Amino acid sequence: MDPFVLSYEGFDPEAEGLREVLTSTGNGRFCARAAAEWEDADGVHYPGTYAHGVYNRETTILGGVPVLNEDLVNLPNWLVLKLRIDGGDAIRLADVEVLEYRHRLDLRGAVMTRTVRFRDGAGRETALTSRRFVSMAHPDRAGIEWTLTAENWSGRVEVISAIDGRVTNSGVARYLELEGRHLDPVSPRTFGPEAIALKVRTRQSNTYISQAARTRVFAGERSLIVERSLFQTEDYIQQILAFEVAKQEPVRIEKMVSLATSRDPATSDTLGKAGTAARRSPEFAPALARHVDAWEELWRVCDVRARCDEEVQHLLRVHICHILSVCSRHTPDLDAGMPARGLSGEAYRGHVFWDEVYVFPFLSFRLPEVTRGLLMYRYRRLEEARAAAREAGFTGAMFPWQSGSEGTEETQRVHLNPMSGRWEPDLSHNQRHVNAAIFYNIWQYFQATRDLAFLRDYGAEMMLEIARFWASIAHFNPERGRYEIHGVMGPDEFHEKYPGADEGGLRNNAYTNVMVAWLCGLAGEVLTWLPDSRADALRSRLEISDRELSLWRDMSGRMFVPFHDDGIISQFEGYEHLKELDWDGYRARYGNIQRLDRILHAEGDDPNRYKVSKQADAVMLFYLFAPAGIRELFERLGYEYRSDTAARNIAYYDQRTSHGSTLSFVTFAGVLAPLDPESSWERFLVALRSDVDDIQGGTTREGVHMGVMSGTVDLMQRAYPGMEIRDGVLRFQPRLPGAVEQVTFRMQFQRTPMQVTLDQERLVISLHREGAGGPIRVGVGDELRELCPGDTETFELSVPVAAGKEGGNP
Ligand code: BGC
Repeated sequence: MDPFVLSYEGFDPEAEGLREVLTSTGNGRFCARAAAEWEDADGVHYPGTYAHGVYNRETTILGGVPVLNEDLVNLPNWLVLKLRIDGGDAIRLADVEVLEYRHRLDLRGAVMTRTVRFRDGAGRETALTSRRFVSMAHPDRAGIEWTLTAENWSGRVEVISAIDGRVTNSGVARYLELEGRHLDPVSPRTFGPEAIALKVRTRQSNTYISQAARTRVFAGERSLIVERSLFQTEDYIQQILAFEVAKQEPVRIEKMVSLATSRDPATSDTLGKAGTAARRSPEFAPALARHVDAWEELWRVCDVRARCDEEVQHLLRVHICHILSVCSRHTPDLDAGMPARGLSGEAYRGHVFWDEVYVFPFLSFRLPEVTRGLLMYRYRRLEEARAAAREAGFTGAMFPWQSGSEGTEETQRVHLNPMSGRWEPDLSHNQRHVNAAIFYNIWQYFQATRDLAFLRDYGAEMMLEIARFWASIAHFNPERGRYEIHGVMGPDEFHEKYPGADEGGLRNNAYTNVMVAWLCGLAGEVLTWLPDSRADALRSRLEISDRELSLWRDMSGRMFVPFHDDGIISQFEGYEHLKELDWDGYRARYGNIQRLDRILHAEGDDPNRYKVSKQADAVMLFYLFAPAGIRELFERLGYEYRSDTAARNIAYYDQRTSHGSTLSFVTFAGVLAPLDPESSWERFLVALRSDVDDIQGGTTREGVHMGVMSGTVDLMQRAYPGMEIRDGVLRFQPRLPGAVEQVTFRMQFQRTPMQVTLDQERLVISLHREGAGGPIRVGVGDELRELCPGDTETFELSVPVAAGKEGGNP
């Protein structure tokens, strides 16, 4: 197996949607599903192209009720290339005898290749190899190359090269009842004899999008003169290139494409911009070479090498390739958030959730400028978050659970249960915990980079406003002598409210309350890290009083955390009164019960009645904080924290979690790393395979799971090496699973680039000589050393490090 290639043999209509996603190609600005160029959208194929930030809102009338949704828009299909032989119909796989079919993604440069040999009805055998990339070197460019060989015939062919603006968002079956038309036509145009272009506009958000394509035909190095004819309507443009092919003499068709949107800097008219860029584009080969060079540089920084089962290494690289296709050095300038499902499908409508918490650790230690850009997406929506808090009767900033173009709440209020066919209310917007994750992300980014300028100009303000929001949603319960938060949901989406209640939300979600205690402790300190002038200005602008600072301090030590009698953290207050589910019975009846919520609703029952979690909730605490950190937090709150608290809670919830979100496997793999390495590794493998094997039976064809893809790579860099940053020291508590002989990766800490190599016996850290950073402090177990650029230090691990046994993950 080539660890840098994802490949499939044979055409499988059932699997095509999944393969389109897994071999999609992107450059951190836009991304295209790997749909075959010659196919239109039907039940099997779904050409889709998505660009960061291009959203549109549409209203659907559902049973007389207007339902507004914002979607990441499927852009016009620039892939179209169709082949006609001797005046016949355009070739489609369904109409020919497929003799050979291979489909692959070369991860080194995210280059997608399809090789097809087929026999048509007239007995002609033809070989066609299609290669495609979305340029990492030029964020507005892409290219397709066809190599066509007439194997046993000679004759005239026509190649149709088109840009199709008649597309809709229709890639997710359960959204089909909702409005999927997002584009209005503007105009087609040609740029000289070789280039066609199409301009469209999003219907509500008024974003102009133009694509242009220059198509040429070559025999070897020689450019062929072809007969060209044009057809265009307002939302479609095509050129037909007609030419003769001779038996066994391959010809190459190159379609060089450019994309411009009115969101781009340095852009006046997108149509002119795209057309000119397509005309100026280099030929396919030099453009591809530059693109591959750009990827090579990325791989040098981002590869994680694992000496273990080769499938593991392979899948880690598949994941890294996908993360970079969505979040690259081109991303920070785009005012882009990180869509939970990447840019390869329409699930969750391209919205931005809390999944960043799983993605940023990969980026921050390699491409910190990308994390910074994604955090700026939040900062630019701070005003909207302030308004949301105000409108809900709170102060500070309340970021939405699902965020899109403007940072307003985009969570839908009803969702379709595909099992019952019914529209059901969706209360998931009550997941206010996203605001704790944003605070945490800013803090982690700052810890990893010491980017004081970011903190000073943007980060601190968000942190203070988030703390203020939590202080206003919380109230003091004098009977308990503690602060409480009511009416919210934790990460577990199966529990939206108390059984039978009219009101949404729960009381005292433990995860939320502990996060709030933690962030309230830090919020007061934030001002002390800033230059005095900035701290004073911020305090006065935000009108932060001494009383407010002391309230945060008080909350940091007096948030209420519910427990069952036996010392188990209750996911929320009253959880212990819920019914136990007959897990075995449900497994026997339904097989896969990951989406128990849908099963129970379809049965007329309600998941709110049971001790069932969709995903890690209270357990998140052990994932986000290292053992010492979580112990300190509980002790500060005055709750007993025993050496087995983590283990007992993890085991308790493990038995009651269906992992209906694959993020949950990542979390459990992380928290089990120090407690039960075998079990941790099992979960890691499930998470690692979850997208390539589409273990949720159809979700991956709707877009990759960015959190899981990044989370699995992060397990190799943080959970197993036991890496955390504490008091400015980069610490390791290695607990490499037996299945892994060695793991090696590059990372940077506080701008100092380094290489980390860990095996069962030693940890070697080599600081690069180049780079902007200075000395750093590294701790392994109880040993603390200072390392300067150019230093290599080896830490012997002969005495197993036991401190991690309390459980928890950085
Ligand atoms: C999970 C959320 C997640 C969202 C987007 C949901 O299924 O429950 O935690 O944020 O998917 O990935």
